[in-house]
Amino acid sequence: MEQVDILIIGAGVVGLAVAKELSENYEDVVVVEKEASFGRHTSSRNSEVIHSGIYYPQHTLKADLCVKGGELLYYFLEENEIPFKNCGKLVVANNDDELEEIYKLKANGELNGVEGLKVISSSDCKKLEPKVIAEYALQVPSTGIVDSHKLMQKLENIAEDNGVFIVYNMQVISIKCLKKEYLVKFSNGELFKAAKVINCAGLFSDKVAEMVGINVEKEDLKLHWCKGEYYKSSKITDINHLIYPVPDPKGIFLGIHLTINLQGEVRFGPNAYYVNELNYGMDESHKSEFLEAIQKYLPISENEIHLDDCGIRAKLQKEGDGFRDFYIKEETQKGYPNFINCIGIESPGLTSCLAIAKKVNSLINT
Ligand SMILES: Cc1cc2nc3c(=O)[nH]c(=O)nc-3n(C[C@H](O)[C@H](O)[C@H](O)COP(=O)(O)OP(=O)(O)OC[C@H]3O[C@@H](n4cnc5c(N)ncnc54)[C@H](O)[C@@H]3O)c2cc1C
Repeated sequence: MEQVDILIIGAGVVGLAVAKELSENYEDVVVVEKEASFGRHTSSRNSEVIHSGIYYPQHTLKADLCVKGGELLYYFLEENEIPFKNCGKLVVANNDDELEEIYKLKANGELNGVEGLKVISSSDCKKLEPKVIAEYALQVPSTGIVDSHKLMQKLENIAEDNGVFIVYNMQVISIKCLKKEYLVKFSNGELFKAAKVINCAGLFSDKVAEMVGINVEKEDLKLHWCKGEYYKSSKITDINHLIYPVPDPKGIFLGIHLTINLQGEVRFGPNAYYVNELNYGMDESHKSEFLEAIQKYLPISENEIHLDDCGIRAKLQKEGDGFRDFYIKEETQKGYPNFINCIGIESPGLTSCLAIAKKVNSLINT
């Protein structure tokens, strides 16, 4: 049986960022991942946007870790020569209600410490993005895009250089809380004893919490999977900013937006709908929803977009709920000392990964 000090479950961007952070402070850190390599789920099925932090209520983890995480991430990307672009974004408003909403977003962003926010007029929008339909826009200069695969690769490299073992094809199937440690069983029959366990299992983080004995229904920690599909367009070129609609304040996502990747290719999405199974299959049944949403800010015809990819969000927010924050906690109070849960790490989890890692580090009892 293996004996380890810190066991991290999951090698998505969060587990890898936590591994890198802890490798700078602890000697005996192991990451276990059920897939054959890192980032096979949400961390490579997202918009790759470095968010600014304008959307989330003040003093929440999402607001604080997004703003702090964005700063840490830009520094890390620059220092490690990982491809990124601080392209900025425009949230467009085309009527009075939307104008009011972008002023609210600006005020909220400023409360969260987001710098450089500016409401600009139609003529200024045209100068920045001639193709985009906008009466007004909130200009968000700190937004950017990143190559998430290269980011994860670098996090893995640094962690391994610092002595972390990352073991693939290792699926945790049960966890037993002993007096001073945890007995972790894997689907291949192997057993590990770990003094500290960190649950970074993404879409399955509620299931991992359940394994140790936490009643996720009672604690309101059950995840609700929410699929998001993307369309691509090769016909639309020369867009320099990310273009977002005003989000529905009671909605479950930011609205179908336009992102560019580091090659300048244009993508639209994601949409959002709850699902019960982990199925990355796609069909065209949501195409009209895409066209309707996009045509509000960009003239486009049906044959100019085609299906691209999809991801699934690990949401604590179920249908009809209001805002739900990230859940990042050390669980002594529930009877599980040195067990740290990261649950509900949906967007802006990629942006926040380095700040989440620092938060996890601060929760470890030494
Ligand atoms: C459509 C979409 C768009 C998004 N866009 C953005 C964006 O633009 N910007 C942003 O900041 N964020 C965005 N996000 C959010 C971001 O992608 C996530 O917050 C982040 O990737 C979560 O990383 P993770 O490591 O927690 O999860 P994951 O990447 O899912 O990693 C969890 C890992 O745990 C492993 N695992 C699970 N169970 C077990 C087990 N029992 N044993 C061993 N291993 C296990 C899984 O195989 C997986 O590899 C988006 C998300 C979606 C779905």
